[in-house]
Amino acid sequence: MNVNGKTTVVTGAASGIGKALAQRFEKEGARVVVSDLYEAAAQRVTDPIRGLAVACDVTKETEVQDLVARCEAHFGPIDLFCSNAGVFFGEPDLATSAENAQWQTCWDVHVMAQVYAARAVLPGMIERGGGYLLNMASAAGLLSQIGDAAYSATKHAAVGFAESLAITHGDDGIKVSVICPQYVATPMLGYSEGREKPEGVGVIGPEQVADAVIEGLAEERFLILSHPEVEKYRQHKGDYDRWIGGMRKLRRSIIQKTGGTRLEDMHKLV
Ligand code: NAD
Repeated sequence: MNVNGKTTVVTGAASGIGKALAQRFEKEGARVVVSDLYEAAAQRVTDPIRGLAVACDVTKETEVQDLVARCEAHFGPIDLFCSNAGVFFGEPDLATSAENAQWQTCWDVHVMAQVYAARAVLPGMIERGGGYLLNMASAAGLLSQIGDAAYSATKHAAVGFAESLAITHGDDGIKVSVICPQYVATPMLGYSEGREKPEGVGVIGPEQVADAVIEGLAEERFLILSHPEVEKYRQHKGDYDRWIGGMRKLRRSIIQKTGGTRLEDMHKLV
């Protein structure tokens, strides 16, 4: 898909990757709905790009339905819905040590929000003969994020849900892509908006993710990798036990160097 002239929605678009995607879609000629938890934050992104700012907590199905309705009332039918919102909590020690509420939030934001969005837009898209679901997951959804089992498990589920969407609705004209970046310099990693140079050679800026997305959409490719090395790491999983051995070694070395598995420290080592 070329987004020029298309109506697009991006959730979690007040900062980081979502903001970069919204800005890039507008630059490519799309009509853009910038959605996030708070309207004022979304408005700061839309002001310079003439988009529509809509507040939406994606964990609430009625708010996702309202987001779709407001977009359709303002711009008309949605051509591309990008479910990008995400959260990251980390875990104190054991792989089970994040609180149940944090597990639930990860599940709601990373998986159910994408179900609600697809449920709200699919009937119209199928009736019109096509549409695009662009879902954010993470390299953690293909590999695993050391130090956050809830993030890893729910991002794996997001990849699985995108696979089901693509298999079930490809014949309805529905295109599906899942984005699986590794480290990106955003507030999630402790960077303030666009002001700091990424630390760590494998850390890229959110605009580079937007470049990869535009390329992936043009090719209508299912798996969009902004970090080509992720494909190589994914191949290593062909031998699961060896891969787990390698990840255990990596975890030991991270703990030795940083004293823990905090995302803010860990990403600087890649
Ligand atoms: P970010 O913290 O800058 O942006 C996340 C956005 O999601 C925020 O604006 C936040 O308000 C919004 N959000 C959170 N909960 C929400 C909810 N319930 N309803 C609506 N909006 C909500 O982080 P980011 O790095 O730009 O993350 C964007 C996406 O990319 C996430 O899904 C994240 O998991 C994924 N991702 C990030 C990285 C990375 O290294 N930064 C790597 C891979 C994947």
